[in-house]
Amino acid sequence: MVNVAMSLKYFGLYFELTGEDKYKILLENALKTLDLYHGQLHGMVSGDEWLAGTHPSQGTELCSIVEYMYSMETLLAVYGGSAFGDRLERVAFNALPAAISRDWFSHQYDQQVNQICSSKAKRNWTENNDEANLFGLEPHFGCCTANMHQGWPKFTSHLWMKDSQSYVCQSMVPCKVTTEKLTILVEGNYPFITGGTLKVKAKEAYTLKVRIPNWSKEVIFRKNNVQQHPIVREDYLLIEGDAGADVYTLFFVAEVKKEQRAQRAIGITYGSLIFSLPIKEEWKILKGNSPFYDWSVKPKSEWRYALSEKSTYSVHYHKQNEKQIFDSRHSPISIITSGWKIPNWKIHQNSADTPPYQVRSEERSELTLVPYGGAKLRISEFPTIDRSLLNN
Ligand SMILES: [Zn+2]
Repeated sequence: MVNVAMSLKYFGLYFELTGEDKYKILLENALKTLDLYHGQLHGMVSGDEWLAGTHPSQGTELCSIVEYMYSMETLLAVYGGSAFGDRLERVAFNALPAAISRDWFSHQYDQQVNQICSSKAKRNWTENNDEANLFGLEPHFGCCTANMHQGWPKFTSHLWMKDSQSYVCQSMVPCKVTTEKLTILVEGNYPFITGGTLKVKAKEAYTLKVRIPNWSKEVIFRKNNVQQHPIVREDYLLIEGDAGADVYTLFFVAEVKKEQRAQRAIGITYGSLIFSLPIKEEWKILKGNSPFYDWSVKPKSEWRYALSEKSTYSVHYHKQNEKQIFDSRHSPISIITSGWKIPNWKIHQNSADTPPYQVRSEERSELTLVPYGGAKLRISEFPTIDRSLLNN
């Protein structure tokens, strides 16, 4: 899987060398095929060494996440556009932080979309050993220990790019861009709040392009607090500015979406974030020396819940943990919905079994869903309950 993730940039690089359009078509076919047979809710393709299918308890290796992100960054630089940008953000804001502990002293080799336990135990891997889903210094093998640190710096260095006429923002996360001719300060809390502010100080006239994600229903755009009609060219909002200081505010209107998975299961997204039911975690040291321990994480709360096709979802914002934004105990954003407890969801090979196809329940609870990346134990692909079978 790591080789597959690395190889995806080959199509863009060959296009750069030859100018032949066929590489874009081959690339789109490759991505479509990977999504169909191995695509996971977090935007990655599964692979615990070998490609491993769409089941939400299959593993995805941390190295492949970092390499997939770098391939998407390269393709975004070659082709531009929201398809590669959205793929990059889905993986960067979900799969990458999920595999790394909140203090960054341990990580998983393989993460699972539905991850009910992290333990040394047999799982349905294609090849990896029983330690592959532990949080540790080098569980299973040390490659991810070396690769994990490349994810955020490479992502950061691709937030802004430059074409022949413009400065191009590929992702609205807070940062500062400095050139000889201008400085751009991006402020906000993207992706938790789906927009932000660009404070520009320029010595001469300039053009900015800001990528609009495909999930955005509408762009609300203000210049110096005055609403403007947004000018959009090929997935990018166009901003023409003059020398001086200006403040631009952008807001991408997002909505809670249900993504259909196999067995009538669904995943919940809002903007580029996936939302999971966090399972209460009990961390225990297995071995190692301070601060680099191998841990087991046991579930201490119920996880067997289904959602209904008619469930309603309300989005709430909170004060976040300033040191670690991906922390299910202090998430900057949560979604409240209703879930139904389903006792017939079994454990298979120390993982959550396939989300049951037909589920009955009479026990309804309020569920708080949080961003996937902060929940180290979680349910993210939920069975759907058939309301006609319910008593209430
Ligand atoms: Zn690895």
